Order: sequence, then C-alpha cells, then structure tokens
Amino acid sequence: MDVKKVYYIEGDGIGPEIFRAAKMVIDRAVEVTFGGTKRIEWIELLAGEKAYKETGSYLPEETLKTLREDAKVAIKGPLTTPVGTGFRSLNVTLRQTFDLYACIRPVRYFKGLETPVKHPELVDMVIFRENTEDVYAGIEWEAKSHEAKKLIEFMKDELGVDVDDSAAIGIKPITEKGSKRLIRKAIRYALENKRKSVTFMHKGNIMKFTEGAFFKWGYEVMEEDEFKGFCVKEGDEGKVEGKVIIKDRIADNMFQQVLTRPAEYDVIATTNLNGDYISDALAAQVGGLGLAPGANIGDDLALFEPTHGSVPKRAGTDTANPCSLILSGGMMLEYMGWNDASFKIQKAIERAIFKKEVTQDLARLMDGAKVVGCKRFGEIIAENIE
Ligand code: NAD
Repeated sequence: MDVKKVYYIEGDGIGPEIFRAAKMVIDRAVEVTFGGTKRIEWIELLAGEKAYKETGSYLPEETLKTLREDAKVAIKGPLTTPVGTGFRSLNVTLRQTFDLYACIRPVRYFKGLETPVKHPELVDMVIFRENTEDVYAGIEWEAKSHEAKKLIEFMKDELGVDVDDSAAIGIKPITEKGSKRLIRKAIRYALENKRKSVTFMHKGNIMKFTEGAFFKWGYEVMEEDEFKGFCVKEGDEGKVEGKVIIKDRIADNMFQQVLTRPAEYDVIATTNLNGDYISDALAAQVGGLGLAPGANIGDDLALFEPTHGSVPKRAGTDTANPCSLILSGGMMLEYMGWNDASFKIQKAIERAIFKKEVTQDLARLMDGAKVVGCKRFGEIIAENIE
C-alpha cells in the first residue's frame, strides 16, 4: 500500500463544508483509480478562525513548524481576511513564509454551463501569477502616519519628487529573481504540456521599472540555454512549428483580448496584482469562482487552494459549490504523480454538470437544472467517478 501524507487546513466560512465534500471525492477517485493500492493519509493543521478558537492564534507556530519541517504537499480551504483593518492576510502570509512563488490557476470550460460569453469553450488558459512580491509585499503606511510623512519628506528632499503630504504610501517591489523564476516555471509548463504560447501580462507602459522590467526579464528568460530553440517571439520570422510562442500584452488590453479572442491565449505569466484580477475575470468567463482551482508552488512545498474566498454569507448553509476545492485536489493528485485520479475527477464533474443536479451558482447558468446542496453535489460527483 502506497500511503501519501497530505496536510490540510479546512479554512473559514464555507471552508469546512467544501473541504468535507472535496475530501470524499478525492478519496473516492484514488480508491477507484488504484483499486486500494494507494491511499491518502489526511493530517489536519490549524489556521484561521478554528485555530484562533482552539489556540488563541490565527496561525499557530505548530502549523508553521509542520509546514516547514515535514509537509511537501498540503491543501487548504479559504481563510478570511478583514478589509482595511485588522491582521494581515493569512493566505498571503503562508505564500510568503514558505516562498510559494508560483500561483498556478488553470481555467477551462465545463460543457453544459451557460456563461456570460458566446464561446466559453475557447477559454483554456493557465495563469502563472507571481505570488510573493508586488503590492502584496505588504509595504504600506496609513495616510499621515509617522512613516508615511517620513517617506514623503525623503522623496521631496532626496529624490525631488513632489507627493502630497496627506498621501498614504504603498511600495511595489518587483525583482529580477522573483520575476524570472516565475516565468521559467510558466515556460517549462508550456513546453511540458505542449501549450501554444506564453503571454507576459504587465502594465509596463505606466510602471516602467516594475511591470516593464517584468516582461523585459521574461524575454531574457526565453534566451536562456534551457529554452533556446524551443521558443519563438511573436512576430519573429522563422519556423514556429512545435515551438512555444512568447508574447506580451499590456494588462488592460489583455482583459479585453481574453474576452474577444480567447483562442489566442494559453499560458499567462504575470505579476501578483494583475494575476489576482485576471484569475477572477477568467473564472467568470467559464462559470464563476465555484469552478476555479489553484496551486501555490515553491521549491519545498506545494499548497493547493481554490481561487475564491471564504464566502462568509454562505457559511454553514450547505449551498457553496465544492468544485474549486475538488479541482484543486485534482491538481494536487497530478503533482503527486497520480494523474489518472485527477482525470477521473474532471470527468466526474463533467458528468455531474451534464446531469443537471448542481449547486445554486451553477444552476443559475443552466436551463432546467435542479439545485442541490454542497454535500449532495459532492456525493453526486463521487458517484460519477468511474
Ligand atoms: P469570495 O471569493 O469569498 O466571494 C465572492 C463571490 O463569489 C461570493 O459572493 C459568491 O457569490 C461567489 N463564490 C465564490 N466561491 C464560491 C463557491 N465555492 N460557491 C458558490 N459561490 C461562490 O470573495 P470575497 O467576498 O471578496 O472575500 C471573502 C473573504 O475571503 C475575505 O475575507 C477575503 O479576504 C477572503 N479571501 C480568501 C482567499 C483565500 O483564502 N485564498 C481568496 C480570496 C478572498
């Protein structure tokens, strides 16, 4: 028996409900695929509101220690972060503490859903979002604070930059190292999975030395020995067949192009904030956040999680869609090399949608669908694993 340890954090809000459904589906897929020769040993780690209730800390040292010293693979539900005040995002803290620098979010269409666009089936993209830098580095100060005033003074006196005395200040660090390692992962993924193109999405026309540098460094990565001969820059003459085309697009244009010409985009490599925005926008094109999985990958740890948040208004109502966490589990199985089990999960979700017994978010996008709860939807998916 091949037993693999998986650490899990249930999450806040809808987290516990979608986690229960996801665990059941993942276990079933492993059982059906490997006939009892492989199994997951699930080990809980505390974080978020449950951790606070039990230990007085939102992110207990023991959780961090286990993730640091023992875990290779973990999966989590969403964790709540207050807006504007209170503690820093636990999700961002986890990504930064463990240097989970690549956030990978595949976006695909499931047949049977009606979506806001005419041809959702043309959306088949994988977002590689830089996960540790940019405005997410958390370097910001409140308006009129001592630190903001000091920085404004420094900018006036030393740099000759005029900033209003009452401004709040945020800093956006983007490094060559951080950009290149993310872009390398995106190009490697495109080559290994025979994807057609990698597009660098950036706002380099306005933020020349941060976002502009990101795509410039991207083209340098393309010239590295590892990729020489395997990539070609868009518009360059020469033999394109079998090569990955490297493109770049300004972020605002990218948003309209993925709507109007989705077939032209495949892998997208981008900075942290752009990646956050485009993830939700693309998810909406194929049926919403309930179907949007993700992975945060570093060199030592892979942490899988849905793209969406904790949807507090639905907590405890058994109405949330568990598919994004189930599909994140599928990505986790692929990461573990258990690809067939992941494939069975995707097929089972397709079948469940086809049978038109779905959670309310998907039922709204279908004619004549019957609404079922989160738990029941999980059971239907598990029953459709063949
Ligand atoms: P959200 O993703 O929780 O919800 C946005 C909307 O998307 C919901 O109102 C709902 O209509 C829909 N939705 C999302 N997931 C769904 C699902 N599984 N089933 C059905 N409908 C679904 O975003 P928000 O309201 O901006 O954030 C709520 C909390 O989650 C905040 O505290 C935020 O910081 C946190 N958050 C956490 C993560 C994470 O854990 N990685 C990510 C995003 C937001």
